[in-house]
Amino acid sequence: MIHNGIHHVTAIAGNARRNVEFYTRTLGLRLVKKTVNFDDPGTYHFYYGDEVGSPGTILTFFPWDHVAPGRLGVGETQETVFRVPEGAIGYWTQRFVEKGVTHQAPVKRFGESVLSFKDPHGMRLALVAVPGIENEPGWTDGEIPAEAAIRGFHSVNLLLAEAAPTGAILTDVFGFREVGREGSLVRFAVEGQAIGGVVDIHEAGGFLPARMGGGSVHHIAFRAEDDAAEAAMVKKLQENHGIRTTEQKDRNYFRSVYFREPGHVLFEIATDIPGFAADEPVASLGQALKLPAFLEPQRARIEQVLPEIA
Ligand code: ZN
Repeated sequence: MIHNGIHHVTAIAGNARRNVEFYTRTLGLRLVKKTVNFDDPGTYHFYYGDEVGSPGTILTFFPWDHVAPGRLGVGETQETVFRVPEGAIGYWTQRFVEKGVTHQAPVKRFGESVLSFKDPHGMRLALVAVPGIENEPGWTDGEIPAEAAIRGFHSVNLLLAEAAPTGAILTDVFGFREVGREGSLVRFAVEGQAIGGVVDIHEAGGFLPARMGGGSVHHIAFRAEDDAAEAAMVKKLQENHGIRTTEQKDRNYFRSVYFREPGHVLFEIATDIPGFAADEPVASLGQALKLPAFLEPQRARIEQVLPEIA
């Protein structure tokens, strides 16, 4: 079992209801946790993923009504990419046309078909066709056929001035290695990790800096099997790269540290444990508003300020 790769991606959305509708209905992901931003409890924190919210399948959002749109630039995530079975690209293209989802014609990247699209708040996403994954379990609530359903993350694409400094962190600390180059892209992968095992760095040199806002990725979290593995990564970051992380924060479903990587993207290290069934059964994940123990005394007030999403 390999416990490296992407754990989750967290992004900024606009209206909460539209966010839930797009990710659960249009894309067919499962809402596996409905909670609040622990650091800003008047804001929802939604987690979408596969049936149980496995590491490598989790896309999370802070939805803010009236958020100003972000502007793509150097030092941020350019695209977040999901895996779908090879035969499903036609299905998804058709679906995006029917649902009015902004998308581009499929292109080839590292020999794979990539269908880029945007969510309602401008987040840059893509589907990549991966051969031989038809039999991997895919979450479906019935609307999207299981054979076309999303199978977790393929990769994230980071738009950076240069690849080497960030690449050094990926390879030395997170278990990736450089596996290919194509144009201005440098591909890093975790050997044997099919889900969330790829990071592409798009070298852009001195392009405009990013401005974070609606549709922007807030941070990328990488996996650590447990607290000991996370502590070892923290030690390596400090000793080999002179990077200090935050202290560990308990996010209820994983335990995390954060740091700004050399290319300016906010990185997190998140433990695979305890997972999303820590405070509610798998069968009813995402249905009730879950709060960490320290916020339970404020539940009534929090529920009052959160926007309606049903
Ligand atoms: Zn996170």
